[in-house]
Amino acid sequence: MTAAASARQILTRLHEVMAGRTHAQYKLDRVVEIIAESLSSEVCSIYLLREGALELYATQGLNPEAVHVTRLAVGEGLTGTIANNIETLNLAEAKAHPDFAYRPETGEEQFHSFAGVPIVYRERAVGVLCVQHVDPRRYEDVEIEALQTTAMVLSELIAHKELVDGESVIDLEISHVENDILEGLPLVKGLAAGQAVFHQPRIEIDQVVAEDVEAERQRVYRAFDKMRDQIDALAREPEFGKGGEHVEVLETYKMFAYDEGWSRRINEAIDSGLTAEAAIERVQQRTRMRMREIDDPLLADRMHDLEDLSNRLLRIVSGQLGTAATQGLRRDTVLFARNLGPAELLEYDRRRLKGVVLEEGSLTAHVVIVARAMGVPVLGRVSGLRTRVAEGDEVILDADHGTVTLRPNQQVLEAFETRFARSREKQAAYAELRDVEPFTRDGTRITVMMNAGLRDDMSALAMSGADGVGLFRTEFQFLVSSTLPQRDRQMRLYRDVLDAAGDKPVIFRTVDIGGDKAVPYLDTAVAERDENPAMGWRALRLSLEREGLLKAQARALLEAAAGRSLSVMFPMVSEPWEFDAGKKVFEDQLAFQRDRRRQVPETIRYGCMLEVPALADMLDVLLPKLSFVSVGTNDLTQFLFAADRANPKLAERYDWLSPAILRFLARVSRSFVGHDVQLGVCGEMGGRRLEALALLGIGYRRLSITPAAVGPIKELVRKVDLGELTAQMSGWLAAPPPDMRGALQQWAGERDIEVE
Ligand code: PEP
Ligand code: MG
Repeated sequence: MTAAASARQILTRLHEVMAGRTHAQYKLDRVVEIIAESLSSEVCSIYLLREGALELYATQGLNPEAVHVTRLAVGEGLTGTIANNIETLNLAEAKAHPDFAYRPETGEEQFHSFAGVPIVYRERAVGVLCVQHVDPRRYEDVEIEALQTTAMVLSELIAHKELVDGESVIDLEISHVENDILEGLPLVKGLAAGQAVFHQPRIEIDQVVAEDVEAERQRVYRAFDKMRDQIDALAREPEFGKGGEHVEVLETYKMFAYDEGWSRRINEAIDSGLTAEAAIERVQQRTRMRMREIDDPLLADRMHDLEDLSNRLLRIVSGQLGTAATQGLRRDTVLFARNLGPAELLEYDRRRLKGVVLEEGSLTAHVVIVARAMGVPVLGRVSGLRTRVAEGDEVILDADHGTVTLRPNQQVLEAFETRFARSREKQAAYAELRDVEPFTRDGTRITVMMNAGLRDDMSALAMSGADGVGLFRTEFQFLVSSTLPQRDRQMRLYRDVLDAAGDKPVIFRTVDIGGDKAVPYLDTAVAERDENPAMGWRALRLSLEREGLLKAQARALLEAAAGRSLSVMFPMVSEPWEFDAGKKVFEDQLAFQRDRRRQVPETIRYGCMLEVPALADMLDVLLPKLSFVSVGTNDLTQFLFAADRANPKLAERYDWLSPAILRFLARVSRSFVGHDVQLGVCGEMGGRRLEALALLGIGYRRLSITPAAVGPIKELVRKVDLGELTAQMSGWLAAPPPDMRGALQQWAGERDIEVE
């Protein structure tokens, strides 16, 4: 018998039982009887989650006295393991499994084989359905699938209270434990309070069992058509016509969308009696379970794509489209998501978005950089979001200490308020440094600039007292826009930025699109699925090839800075010729403007980012050509360590204070001696006190950092004796201490320099 036929047979029989006006316990007893019989098993049992433990609610084959007596903690025994890991177990010999726990009251010692599936409700296991058999044999795939489909139906019946008595309360909802604390990695420090909102609202599947199988099939067909149209429309974008690697990537995506196997499996699930939504979810669940078993990261990535498509299909079929941003935030909010793109974050209302909690995330992912610029604290690498957080929960985010407290009680709230007030006082103290110039104790003026990317960021210039904007990320305008910003729109932004900066300098970096900064209207949407997007077709590489894009930007910048001074910086320069080519686009546009007797900037300074290690070995060739270089340590370190900056698994792996990085940066700084070229750092590293200390000690005198760090870094600078620090750092670089971070921390502590 096929899996579908076997599941449908069970569902039909379950339906009959449900239709009867009988007692809930009687129904449960009938359910286990039917399943045991259909799967030719001596035993079938249902455990449900009650008061935090899995309680045996019904059994066919085990000792009936054990019903409502046997209770297992989540994580205890095979049943507890299934619930804990939300996984299926299929064992020929149950006792051989390391998690097997024997319960004498059940009388299960005579049974050898065991198979169990979780009963999942809202991504949490609320029970376990299992079968056992005397013979030591693994259950067939069709049997496991029938069991899984049945578990899905049971979950719906339980949710609708059709299988349990009113007084027997199953823990369907997340237990509302007060002061439940989740831990994570602080990505943007700060404190926040608000209500929990999930970025992707959960898709509610109201009905699991189909009333009309054919109608459900048609709904899925229509949803597939729509999804394929969307993918095809993406492929028709003019950019995709040109060939190249990104076309292949899209082809893979398309291959999934048209994958016969996938649609067939969904169809089979519909055949077994499920609704369109339940069938998609059912197949997705199975994919997820398979994913757990496959230990191949490449395949896992592909599965991830498939899961994305599956979500898209589910959204289309259920008509539940959009994110929390499109629905609008109603109160102060702490946002929860697996991960976010920078553009997705920018869609949120800045006034209401107080904090972000991510399952993934890393310090230099662009979404984190954007959040930092917005002053929104972020905690990353937090697990258990879907199982412990409920939409609307009150939440306190302490991204200084790496915790998020769910449902805080009054006492915790009050303690938080006190800390919040103290942190505001500290901010006020930094504000007092606004007009104080940052000189070291031995009299060296350090230039502290800020990074920006949006019009709104410019207000921070006056508030922080930064010396100017050392990095204006022009791609942010592209990220927040749904269409390619035209030249005059770009020009207006640049002009406003220069107006807001007044006498202070602004360095405009030409667009750095690609990598994790994908925009939907350019082919970089595909680069997101590029195998190595950060090393792919991005930044200046893309701009030089799409010359129209760079020309328009050059014109916009030249026009905006007419009669003033303009500083232009190129991102991701890997070889000196790329700088020459970028500069030529600007010089050609300048000549064009001059020919037309248009007003042009009084002066133009050109510079580039140093974020590709290869460029460090070409500085003798490069430096005579330009006015400034800014080291982008975010990209540079990912390339030095061959460690993807956006990969959460590597988030804590490499340290900016490792001797390899510091030696590299010191070598770069030495290459500038004798050249009249400004050298600075504009990566996130410069905004962290301990790291900034190290940079000062190896020759860096210009930092461009996130606005919130300007005050703390100024305060740091004023406490440092640069001569002493430089001597210490050069000693450490010659003979690195085993723990550079620890050594520097101790050095700072001894001098009363606050570095946290
Ligand atoms: C960097 O790479 O350090 C940098 C400042 O650029 P971005 O973070 O925008 O890639
Ligand atoms: Mg960079």
